[in-house]
Amino acid sequence: AHTDDISITGQKYTNTTLADHGNSNLLRAAMVALVRNKELQGMRATVRQLEDRFNRNYGYPYIFLNDEEFTEEFKEGIQSVTNAPVYFGKLPEEHWGLSQYVTEDKVKEALEYNRNRYLYGGSYSYRLMCRYQSGFVYKHPLLKDLDYYWRIEPDVNYYCDIPYDPFKYMRDNELIYGFTITPLENGKTVETLWEHTRKWMIENPDFLQEKSFIHWVVNEKAVYTRCHFWSNFEIVDLSFYRSEAYESYFQYLDRAGGFFYERWGDAPVHSMAAAILLRKEQIHWFEDIGYRHPGIGSCPNKPDMAARCVCPPNANYMYRSHCNRRYGEVNNILKHQALELAHM
Ligand code: GDP
Ligand code: MN
Repeated sequence: AHTDDISITGQKYTNTTLADHGNSNLLRAAMVALVRNKELQGMRATVRQLEDRFNRNYGYPYIFLNDEEFTEEFKEGIQSVTNAPVYFGKLPEEHWGLSQYVTEDKVKEALEYNRNRYLYGGSYSYRLMCRYQSGFVYKHPLLKDLDYYWRIEPDVNYYCDIPYDPFKYMRDNELIYGFTITPLENGKTVETLWEHTRKWMIENPDFLQEKSFIHWVVNEKAVYTRCHFWSNFEIVDLSFYRSEAYESYFQYLDRAGGFFYERWGDAPVHSMAAAILLRKEQIHWFEDIGYRHPGIGSCPNKPDMAARCVCPPNANYMYRSHCNRRYGEVNNILKHQALELAHM
């Protein structure tokens, strides 16, 4: 394998080329996006930034997934902004469609009812997307050999140089879930999510760990806080999503029908699972990865971090975020306490 050691501002970086992938010192990890052909320019902008800020020094592969075939234009357009290996895949049909646990008529009614209640309230495809990202993306054949994924989206911004490998940071610190932004979910989209979650906990106590971070999502009175990790960015140890506990939880939620009758997002679902099944020490705020998704952004204000970033002043949401404050304040609780919450 051919690697060049190049020196940038005095620091050593390893410049891996396409041919190195698979036998270099990269982890089994990739950037992954579910995306539509029409989002090519937004996807190119994201990839270009990730390359400039991070990946040109590493060469981690990209995986693009779509419920339709990618066009040649899309593939070429992406390949023209990165030298890293790029894979394009179509979703298995059984991963994208109406769940067997809901009925078409009731789904139509729900879309009609919710159309003007919240964003994407009347969208069927948005619900397929959320369900896919909740319970299927990590089962795609192209992700089979991955230990970690970094979810990316079109039209987001990466504001800071990332002078280290976040995947290795996850591994070295035994982290399972990494995030950048913690908003408050619109309660109307998740009206019964906690009700079903608490039932799952009560019926499946063996899946609960000795300690968990559940107090971040459910307060002392067992009220859902609606805090969540914004999953348009997430770096995850995929053994978490592939675990028996997560699969059981996803299946339970799918059976409850809320991906369609309500509009459960993959962000609140991933977050609920992380809070219930992980400990605080296994979850990490990548404060140094300045990031923006249309709507909100996170821009570090610590001088050592900020020096590597160029962010607009309106990207400092995280220092005002109620959920981020709560994230800092609450601690793990014991399994019996978590079960008491579920019973309240
Ligand atoms: P938002 O971030 O919640 O507003 O939702 P987005 O429209 O950004 O969708 C989330 C991700 O899923 C993005 O990467 C989209 O490109 C992708 N996505 C959403 N709907 C579809 C779809 O119907 N097909 C495909 N292939 N990708 C989709
Ligand atoms: Mn988005």
